[in-house]
Amino acid sequence: MSSKTSNAFHIAAMPGEGIGLEVMEAAQAVLEAVEARFGIAFRSETIPGGAHHYRETGATLPKDGLARAGQADAILFGAMGWPDIRFPDGTEIAPQLDIRMHYGLYAGVRPIRAIPGVPTALADPRAAGIDLVIVRESTEGMFASRGKGEIIDDREARDTQVITRDVTEKLTAFSCGLARRRKATRGTPGRVTLVDKANVFRSFAFMRQVFHETAAKHPDIEARHHYVDAMALDLVRRPWDFDVLPMENLFGDILSDLGAGLIGGMGFAPSADVGDRNAMFQPSHGTAPDIAGQGIANPTAMILSAAMMLDWLGETRSSQAATDAALAIEKGVDKAFGERGLRSQDIGGGHGTVEIGRTVAELVRSGAADPA
Ligand code: ATP
Repeated sequence: MSSKTSNAFHIAAMPGEGIGLEVMEAAQAVLEAVEARFGIAFRSETIPGGAHHYRETGATLPKDGLARAGQADAILFGAMGWPDIRFPDGTEIAPQLDIRMHYGLYAGVRPIRAIPGVPTALADPRAAGIDLVIVRESTEGMFASRGKGEIIDDREARDTQVITRDVTEKLTAFSCGLARRRKATRGTPGRVTLVDKANVFRSFAFMRQVFHETAAKHPDIEARHHYVDAMALDLVRRPWDFDVLPMENLFGDILSDLGAGLIGGMGFAPSADVGDRNAMFQPSHGTAPDIAGQGIANPTAMILSAAMMLDWLGETRSSQAATDAALAIEKGVDKAFGERGLRSQDIGGGHGTVEIGRTVAELVRSGAADPA
């Protein structure tokens, strides 16, 4: 690793474009507060990239961008991609997918947690207790076919799903570890539920078999499975009953947007892409060209992604300061929207990107958000 002491971290900051630039600035204000409060030192290196970068230079990232990102302790990513700027074959510019594939970031961790004061989509009072995590497998599944699908003729096209034992074992072990850590730190039930379609497809029956074989090595964790169609229903009917939900890539793509819809929208949905050695942290949303440059983007997803980065650094680098800082950011967000009554524009309020970032930063810096 590039950093010598456990409380000094080298961060590759990749703000990207659109609202990625704006929410990254807000998250950086919070990380400055973390440095002041928790004695952590960040060495932040900015790496440009995205669709506009492609238009200007002919490449989506600088030549050494991928390598530099991989040398950092963690990658903090804003958003990249722009509707009108595409590759000659019409596909989107998405360096985040290249980073995921290059560094084998198989676990797409997408927490769905109700934030105090933020209206949930469900009227049931139990919705305030929504606290689950979708673990979207991010290197194979249906997306393994990205760029490789076949157009047979003008009447038929095919994409093929790939599920491997190796990645399913890693995904399951990761999910069990996450459920264990959540049980210890948040009192959640320690339950992992695989979401699949094993009644129809052989690849999913295989995935389920490997999942249960692997989960059996984690006897402290309860392992279940659930069909994806039933899960779509139950995420709306009783989302408060679920804990950690590993699933195939495309299922995770769809259900994590549904999950974000439950707790206020994309502006509140952080994510982490974790591999054996590297990890990237980014909001679940994209560049949102319709609101870019207006200062109204909700930076909460980005700020909570920075908290996930600190939590991961805390765990993998044995840094209690980083673990504490992660909890403080989460608590700062809760207090900003709860006690302080902040309302971002995406939930009908008038507080802008900078104001939300500053409020969370001030709560963290002052100690008002220190973990208990
Ligand atoms: P991508 O495919 O790159 O994920 P997308 O087409 O799904 O992008 P997003 O950029 O994620 O689109 O956003 C969809 C819409 O949601 C935006 O156009 C915007 O109106 C809204 N939105 C997304 N993120 C935020 C945010 N942080 N704050 C406020 N509104 C947001």
